[in-house]
Amino acid sequence: MTEQISHVLLDIEGTTCPLSFVSGTLFPYAARELGLYLERHHQDGTVQMHCQAVIEAWQQDSDPQARQLWNQAQTCDSVEVGGITVRPWHGSEIEPYLQWLIASDRKLTPLKELQGMVWAEGYARGELVGDLFEEVPGVLQEWQQQGLVLGVYSSGSIAAQKLLYGHSQAGDLCPLFSHWFDTHSGGKHEIDSYKRICAAMDVEPQHVLFISDSMAELQAAAAADLQVVLSDRDNSLSPEQRAISIQTTPAETGGYRSISNLNQLQLNSFPSRSHG
Ligand SMILES: [Mg+2]
Repeated sequence: MTEQISHVLLDIEGTTCPLSFVSGTLFPYAARELGLYLERHHQDGTVQMHCQAVIEAWQQDSDPQARQLWNQAQTCDSVEVGGITVRPWHGSEIEPYLQWLIASDRKLTPLKELQGMVWAEGYARGELVGDLFEEVPGVLQEWQQQGLVLGVYSSGSIAAQKLLYGHSQAGDLCPLFSHWFDTHSGGKHEIDSYKRICAAMDVEPQHVLFISDSMAELQAAAAADLQVVLSDRDNSLSPEQRAISIQTTPAETGGYRSISNLNQLQLNSFPSRSHG
């Protein structure tokens, strides 16, 4: 049985973009530029809103190191802001706490929002360029011209996805995509997320091809009846994932096809995964 593919759903990190771009370029850029960004934009209402949320989280953070940073911040001349005592607002007072959150890999929604704003400015200034694997822009264009509907599903926010594709080395590739999904559609290891995404794209799951470098994501997507292909780029898998992909037999992985380059896919004749 061959199911025609009409939609391609793409993971980003490890599939269309090197893992090193996110960990080695994007996050260090945000950490480096955050303080200056806050100083430049401390009168911006959105920035103030996120910073206020950071201050509230900081005040309630019971971690000893967070407490120590908080107490240090209070030793300077302080004022009352929204019922919380802080130093006069210059924008960068919260930077020590933000840097500590980043260094300890702590997730905080307002930090994520601020990082996104720093990246947006970096892309707009041309200091950041979305680094896609070499063949990706051409292949995406080809697929779109063939009439395939393209979608993104990444744990990075939709805003961050659009920045990356909107400022790629090949220019603005956003128009190639019809659908954008992030974790608001559910976690990438959850079967229901893929069902939800197919419903949102108004397509039967068996006509959707999902490509990712994560075996756990492929398993969830396959369980939702999508067709799946493993992106196995050199160095794109973590050692742990690589061990899984090497040790497991095709039967154990559901016979997932693996590619090291998007050019290797012949979508016109793509066979459905075995159901038996
Ligand atoms: Mg990935």
